[in-house]
Amino acid sequence: MAGEYRIDPWGSQVIREYEKLFKYFGMRPFKEVLPLLEEVAEPHRLMRRGVVFGHRDFEIVVDAIKKGKRFAILTGLMPSGKMHFGHKMVIDQVIYYQSLGAEIFLAIADAEAYAVRKIPREELIRTAIEEYVANYLALGLRPERLHIYFQTNYRKEYYRLIQLFSRKVTLAEMEAIYGEDLEPAKIVSALTQAADILHPQLPHFGGFDVVLVPVGPDQDPHLRLTRDIADRFRSELGLRRPASTYHRFMTGLTGEKMSSSKPESYIALTDDPEEAGRKLMRSFTGGRPTAEEQRRLGGRPEICPVYEMLAYHLVDDDAELKRIYEDCKSGRLLCGQCKRYAREKLVKFLEEHQRKLEAAKDLAYKLVDVPDF
Ligand code: SF4
Repeated sequence: MAGEYRIDPWGSQVIREYEKLFKYFGMRPFKEVLPLLEEVAEPHRLMRRGVVFGHRDFEIVVDAIKKGKRFAILTGLMPSGKMHFGHKMVIDQVIYYQSLGAEIFLAIADAEAYAVRKIPREELIRTAIEEYVANYLALGLRPERLHIYFQTNYRKEYYRLIQLFSRKVTLAEMEAIYGEDLEPAKIVSALTQAADILHPQLPHFGGFDVVLVPVGPDQDPHLRLTRDIADRFRSELGLRRPASTYHRFMTGLTGEKMSSSKPESYIALTDDPEEAGRKLMRSFTGGRPTAEEQRRLGGRPEICPVYEMLAYHLVDDDAELKRIYEDCKSGRLLCGQCKRYAREKLVKFLEEHQRKLEAAKDLAYKLVDVPDF
């Protein structure tokens, strides 16, 4: 039963049992739509490598690309902590869709950060711009066809949606999706997220029929609520269900969950490159206790955070990645050598990225209308 398997979008659970999402919540495997996408565009490496594993209604996005129709991407950022490589996965996909012609809506979830996570306003505003938006721009997000807004500082039609939505959602229904400890801050946050996802469809914001939301599976409760709301406002406001995709989470460098509250578990995009390299060298791996055993039994890239860094971020060439995988599995490659290779790529990437970051900070402040309190 779905009720026994609940996802908490505000919690810190790791969703590893992706099959349950297909079984209980009607999510579909992304591999089913990959061949359709291949017909119209080269899939992103996260898609080719199965990191993007699930979807809802992705066919409408493929159709839009095929017919040259306008489509929009809605993505959100939580302005807390440091932006790390786990966060980078979403923005990599957003940049990919922007290159395919998508219009990008980027919601800064400052209302939620303040009300649910209890982060002071001044701190979250600075974090949003300097830590997140600046990094996004330095990674290649382009200012054209890009709308960045703070949830507390946007246009009146967006707020009207939140108010209208409140009429057609019941508390019982929200409890079934989010659990029973629903406080007002979470209810408001959930309705605000629905407005984030659906507002690009309003004529005031471009009237996009097709909106895609790439997220981690922990955010699926918001998508399910939003899809129901869209159905209920189909005739009144002409809203349609959004499409969504879901990507796997990265394993932390400790071998456990990657967590913003555990700096040893992640590498931030602003970490000193040499220090980041040392962190990677200390990482847990899928290797064996001794070199002799590893040569005999082979390594386990499927549980290795170093392999994930290579596959998700540092190696774009599929043939090169396949070679690493096979050499690891066969025991030809040992972890020390593999880590040195990954470290070299990581340091180079961070040095280049950070060279672009200062200019990106200035641009970020120009692109965003910052709330005055
Ligand atoms: S050889 Fe590389 S990929 Fe394989 S387990 Fe060791 S560090 Fe991981």
